[in-house]
Parts: sequence; structure tokens; C-alpha cells
Amino acid sequence: MKIARYKKVHRYMNFFRNSYGFRLPYQILIDGTFCVAAKKGKVNIAEQLPKYFGGPVKILTTQCVILETENFGKQLFSALVIVKQFKHHRCGHEGKPIPAFECLMSMLGAKNENRYIIATQDFILQKAASHIPGVPVLYLHEQTPTLKPPSETSTRMANLSGRERFAVNEVQREALLANKKRLGIEEEVQPERKHRKRFKGPNPLSCKKKKKKQQQQPPPQPISSGSMPNNVEPELKPKRKRKRTKIPQHIKEHFREMLNNKDK
Ligand SMILES: [Zn+2]
Repeated sequence: MKIARYKKVHRYMNFFRNSYGFRLPYQILIDGTFCVAAKKGKVNIAEQLPKYFGGPVKILTTQCVILETENFGKQLFSALVIVKQFKHHRCGHEGKPIPAFECLMSMLGAKNENRYIIATQDFILQKAASHIPGVPVLYLHEQTPTLKPPSETSTRMANLSGRERFAVNEVQREALLANKKRLGIEEEVQPERKHRKRFKGPNPLSCKKKKKKQQQQPPPQPISSGSMPNNVEPELKPKRKRKRTKIPQHIKEHFREMLNNKDK
């Protein structure tokens, strides 16, 4: 069972490494609910998570998460002790704390550019995070850290090519066109692209053609200058004759008759 579990993590994280650039040490963003579950299951997060991911990890949280856990009072005191032992990343809400859910979602942003793994027992946060491409979601299944398989959004975006991923939508395209018209750039951009194609195209093609011609021409020279000139000369001549003999004799005669008629 254990081996199968590690294989799964390895497979899932390989996906995030290849498609979204995740690298060790992974940054794991935890919330209060994860710490509550860790306390209940007596899971030492700092020890178990590096083992689970097969390498060093950075366990992080935010000021908003700490404050929210703190607000629950004595009930979550033990969870608060756990969450406080980890470094907290600046979330931008210092002095004006917001709910942990909103804070963590803002940390992920639209593309999870900082490559966080989100660790939470909050089902709503798990679901919301799964709609952002490239967010691995971790939770505790009783005492076992469990990484969810990559979400549909993550796999769909990973399958798109680079161009499609960064493609501008219609609204953005219209805005771009409007800006170009204002600045008068629109007409200048198109010829630049054409020039690039022209410069790029001919060079490799012309090089290849020259090589082929040079390679094909030299072989007959050494043969003709070889020790058997008598055998070679007849070989070259028939090739020319064959081309001429493609016209059948009766057609030749027909042409001659035609020419004779014209002369008359
Ligand atoms: Zn915050």
C-alpha cells in the first residue's frame, strides 16, 4: 500500500513538474483546517510531508490564516501552535486581515505563479483551488497525507500548446486593436512579420539545394577519369538517347509529314 501511494505522488508531482515547472523544495501553503486534522491524527507535518514528497519542502502559511485560527480561541489552540511554527509568507493583507479562504486564493492568483501546493481540509477551498491551473491539492486522510490527482483544469491547460495557453481572448484582442489604431501601429506590425519570414526561408533551402547538386554532379567525373573509359562513355550516351527515343517512329513520321505539308 505504501509503495503504491508513493508511486501516485511521484506520478502526480511529475505532471506538475513537467507541465507547470514545480521544483524541490516544494512550497506547501497550509491553513488552519489542515493543522486541526494534523493535531487530531497526531501527524507531525514537518516530518511527514518531506517523506511523502520524497524531498525537502517549505511549509508556509499566511498572517490571515494565523489570525483566523487564533480567533477560534481555545478550541483551536493546539492547531494554532502547529500553524505558528511555520514561516508565513507576506500576503498583502498585513494590518487588514481577510478570511483565510480568500487570502489563500489570492496567494494562488489566477495562475499559481509561485507554484504553491495548497494543503487544506476545507472542501470549498479544495474545489476553488482545483479551478486554477497548476495547483496541487493536499489533504490528510486520517493520518495519511494524500495528494489529489491533477484537476481537469490543470490537465486541460497542460495539454494546450504554449500559444493557446497565452492566447488572447476576443475582448483582449479588440482592446489591442483599439490601442494599435490609436497609436497607428497596426499597419507597421504586419510587414515586419513578412520580412522575418522572407529572411528565414531562403537561407536553409538554398544551402540544401546547392549541396544536393554538388553531390550529384561529382560522381560521374571520377568514373569517366577512371581506368575504364570505354565502358563509361557508352553508358552516358545511351541515357541521352533513351530520352530521344521516347518518341515512337510512327509519330516521328507523322511529324515529318506535317512539316512537309506546311512547307508545301
Ligand atoms: Zn492574507
